[in-house]
Amino acid sequence: MPFVVTAKCIKCRYSDCVEVCPTDAFYAGENMVVINPDECIDCGVCEPECPIEAIKSDEELEPEEQKWADINERFSASWPNITKSKGPLPDAEKYADIDAADKDAEFSEAPGEGDE
Ligand code: SF4
Repeated sequence: MPFVVTAKCIKCRYSDCVEVCPTDAFYAGENMVVINPDECIDCGVCEPECPIEAIKSDEELEPEEQKWADINERFSASWPNITKSKGPLPDAEKYADIDAADKDAEFSEAPGEGDE
């Protein structure tokens, strides 16, 4: 069962997680990262790296978070791979305490910058 990046990541994208993944399963969007469920080996190493607890096992997702499993799967197929952190987004601190439910509408489908 793969791990999933939830809405908490939006507009923060701290990206500490991408550095520790043994299978390079993270993909970069404009304002968050996602995990490819086919590449995730469920090791759990990334989960504690996130300072705002945006990563969860898909078994721990609340009902309102289930859609993020689909979003991770869908956008990891087209966004660029990222294995080196580019640091948090400029407004990360400002958005860190905002409730995930209030960030949903801020999700961007646009790809971000990957490693290359
Ligand atoms: Fe990578 Fe492990 Fe996190 Fe899956 S659980 S995304 S394999 S670090």
